[in-house]
Amino acid sequence: MSESVVIVGAGHAAGQAAISLRQGGWQGSISIVGEEPYPPYQRPPLSKKFLAGELPLERLYLRPETFYAEHDIDLRLGSRITAIDREAHRLTLGDGGELAYDKLILATGSRVRRLALPGGELTGVHYLRNIDDVLALQEGFEPGARLVIIGAGYIGLEVAAVAVKSGLVVTVLEAADRVMGRVVSPEVSAFYQREHTRAGVRLRLETPPGTRIGGEGRVSSVIEGDGREHRAELVLIGIGVLPVTELAEAAGLDCDNGIVVDEYCRTADPDILAIGDCTNHPNALLGRRLRLESVHNAQEQAKTAARTLLGRLEPYADVPWFWSDQYDLKLQIAGLGDPGCRRVIRGEPGERSFAVFHCGDDGRLVAVEAINSPREFMLGRKLIAAGARLDPAELADSGNDFKALAETALG
Ligand SMILES: Cc1cc2nc3c(=O)[nH]c(=O)nc-3n(C[C@H](O)[C@H](O)[C@H](O)COP(=O)(O)OP(=O)(O)OC[C@H]3O[C@@H](n4cnc5c(N)ncnc54)[C@H](O)[C@@H]3O)c2cc1C
Repeated sequence: MSESVVIVGAGHAAGQAAISLRQGGWQGSISIVGEEPYPPYQRPPLSKKFLAGELPLERLYLRPETFYAEHDIDLRLGSRITAIDREAHRLTLGDGGELAYDKLILATGSRVRRLALPGGELTGVHYLRNIDDVLALQEGFEPGARLVIIGAGYIGLEVAAVAVKSGLVVTVLEAADRVMGRVVSPEVSAFYQREHTRAGVRLRLETPPGTRIGGEGRVSSVIEGDGREHRAELVLIGIGVLPVTELAEAAGLDCDNGIVVDEYCRTADPDILAIGDCTNHPNALLGRRLRLESVHNAQEQAKTAARTLLGRLEPYADVPWFWSDQYDLKLQIAGLGDPGCRRVIRGEPGERSFAVFHCGDDGRLVAVEAINSPREFMLGRKLIAAGARLDPAELADSGNDFKALAETALG
């Protein structure tokens, strides 16, 4: 008898898992249950082309909505799973209904981290995680509108770039002393600070604690802890995300900054797997456990989980990679840098094309941040995966051709 799979969540990882299961020859039933009203879609354009109005809604979808029925995938949208009964292999739905499973994949993703600040509930204060959030933000998104963004991470800065290009008056408030401080090197932060300032974004770093939002019913200003006031019709808060784990926790699955899985995406329950943003997983290449918030991770863990269920165990141990689009700048990052690494810059920030290489003590390339430098990104990714060593002095010498250095290091 063929087994059934239920996938909880209908995001990027869920969609990819269903696609890979069918492509791999899964004979049993597949159900996807997602609380959003949309079929699995890509989130990256939400803060980029979709917000800018340059991409129609349907282009966000991983596959057209008809794909799922055509491939015998039961897509249940606008439906939330509220409990897992592991013993009975049954799920409870938000409407009180039940759904049986043989195998379960948790793909519950992340949710935005909320900022508890006075005025945070006023109309005009936004977060950005899903399509409906963008549609709501777009309502006041017009030339001349004043937008204050709290948090200079990827999402805050991507929105700032779209907004300033669309004629909004944009102020970004960041508590740290540099932008994207959690994910990029000081050199890359400094470069983006210059670019945003040059584009007309008012960037305020090291804002004092105690920010509040003023207004009656609707937002009218954002007030920094020291009393400095910024008039605003719109506020966007982008201060990171948290993994959605409560369903797994309530079912007694091990969670520690994500649902704990092994390199095959298996939890300790042999019938439950977890994939994507919601997981804490090991990476043999990096020699540690981590939780990632990236499309690449969602896709690759989904493929790994599908192979696991199909009985083809293959460990997931890829080099993590990310990207961000701001203005005409493509930032691509492979690997995870570490403050102890030696950093070598190749190329010219002034020419808006350069790369920062992070070399470990043993000379191994650990990470590369590439700005408008796809070749450095691609070769860097290969070098990191191969554990290749590069001489930082040779790398720093602009007279040396990078491709030749990389080919030598790769052997
Ligand atoms: C604005 C934005 C821009 C981004 N840009 C980039 C980028 O440039 N590059 C990059 O690599 N990554 C980017 N990301 C991150 C990337 O989109 C995520 O890493 C990816 O979506 C993770 O996929 P996922 O399927 O694990 O989770 P999600 O996409 O979060 O999907 C999880 C889904 O599960 C649903 N769900 C949760 N619990 C339940 C339940 N109990 N019952 C039913 N449904 C449930 C949620 O509502 C959600 O729809 C961006 C994210 C955002 C929000």
